[in-house]
Amino acid sequence: MAKKPTREEQQRMCTGKRRYATEADALDTALLRGVERTRQAYRCPLCHRWHLTTTRASQ
Ligand SMILES: [Zn+2]
Repeated sequence: MAKKPTREEQQRMCTGKRRYATEADALDTALLRGVERTRQAYRCPLCHRWHLTTTRASQ
């Protein structure tokens, strides 16, 4: 079930986030921060760039 994001949600999932040109770029940044285990890169449907999102790995 994919609900359409509101403008505000779009801002949260896109505009308010850092953009990466490639998936490798995004993952590399997570790696540098040492948070690669709890981050996942996703292709943004809005700007077609990559963003990082937090996953529930182990907590
Ligand atoms: Zn985006």
